[in-house]
Amino acid sequence: MAPSSKSLRVLIPSDTGQRFSCQSCTQCCRNLVVDLTDRDRKQIEAGGWKRRLDVDPYVRLGGKWVLNKDEQGRCVFLSDAGRCRIHEQQGFDAKPLACRLFPFTLSPVGHSVRAGWRFDCPTVARSQGKPMDADEDALGVLARELLGGRGRAKVEIQLKTGLPAQSAETGHLVGILDRWLRDGQRSPTDRLRGAIWLTSTLQDAQLEAVREERFVELVELLVAALPAELSANVPSTPTSRQLRMLRQLAFAHTGHVSFAEMQAGWGRSLACRWTQLCFSRRFRNGRGPVPSVIGNNGGEADFADVDRVQPDNGQADRLNECVLRYLRGKLQTRTCFGPAYYGWAVLDGLSVLWLSVAVIGWWARYFAAIRQTEAFGLEDLVRALGVVDAGAGRIPILGSSAERLRLRFLQANQGIASLVERYSLWPSR
Ligand code: SF4
Repeated sequence: MAPSSKSLRVLIPSDTGQRFSCQSCTQCCRNLVVDLTDRDRKQIEAGGWKRRLDVDPYVRLGGKWVLNKDEQGRCVFLSDAGRCRIHEQQGFDAKPLACRLFPFTLSPVGHSVRAGWRFDCPTVARSQGKPMDADEDALGVLARELLGGRGRAKVEIQLKTGLPAQSAETGHLVGILDRWLRDGQRSPTDRLRGAIWLTSTLQDAQLEAVREERFVELVELLVAALPAELSANVPSTPTSRQLRMLRQLAFAHTGHVSFAEMQAGWGRSLACRWTQLCFSRRFRNGRGPVPSVIGNNGGEADFADVDRVQPDNGQADRLNECVLRYLRGKLQTRTCFGPAYYGWAVLDGLSVLWLSVAVIGWWARYFAAIRQTEAFGLEDLVRALGVVDAGAGRIPILGSSAERLRLRFLQANQGIASLVERYSLWPSR
């Protein structure tokens, strides 16, 4: 269907197999801090919500206006029956823009916008509902509201740090990696190992002298060499330093400051920082009980318990499908590099994406361990994807120079391949 004059053209990759229709689980109403636009606040004022709720419907937080929350961290508009009061009484269009958009994301590309989706919505992680492009028209209208009716000027994306990418280069690399990841003739382990090897080989190459058609030829040559490289380069066991870095990265993904902490005065906020520092040390040491860093997680486990957990062989197909859909979605929507990922260069963003598989693998094992089982399945993976994707591209520390240093260290020592193999998301061959 052609977009209406009130919408912008939205680019939505349609062949990742991703589906979504909201299941009203209310997880976003509990977990998100919702920024408000001026229009959102006017709408809430016009609805007389302060009087109806008997509490401030929105508050000032970190220099922004956001929806207020109750003591349990739930949106003040969430009723006891688990429904949004604005939606129920004034309709979907009266809700704040961020609520109408979630779990989609929109990034300007010239005069269009590119859609992405967030795996901290469990329905996205489980891929339930309609194909993603079924929402194209509705997203076009939201895109117009978000961007004021126009795409923005071209955003420069770098191939490597300091080296601007030609759009054909990025498109070709994304296309080749996507083709490699969906090649059902190869095991998921080989597909991921191949993607890691290709990315690190390009990272090491002198790309300044290999541009445009020559870059495309180089990528094709490397892909042709991949099968031989995979047999010759089996990842080694990760070193204790690499394992320590992985645990620290797993902890960094939980670095959301809660709504209550953001509202607390400086004294409480100092106490929170001290607690975070202690937790960070415990993740680095990797001994004893894992600190409870993600709220009410439903159990306890030691670091050693987490390391004993393996993927559930009986759920291998479902685990494979979910992780490959996650990786291909991130790749095709280009939310793993450039403006959607702290402005990082394509090859750095890709390295982080492959490394995120090990982080997801660590959290999936943790969720199985707190259930006191030694095999993780799809629901543990869904929770792990939620932890990792809630933070990626959003928590400031993950885009910091310290994270770049961590990445450089792991890139230089084949640490990414070793960690991804150690915390594999599927049973080994
Ligand atoms: S988390 Fe996803 S499925 Fe649940 S209410 Fe929010 S958008 Fe709907």
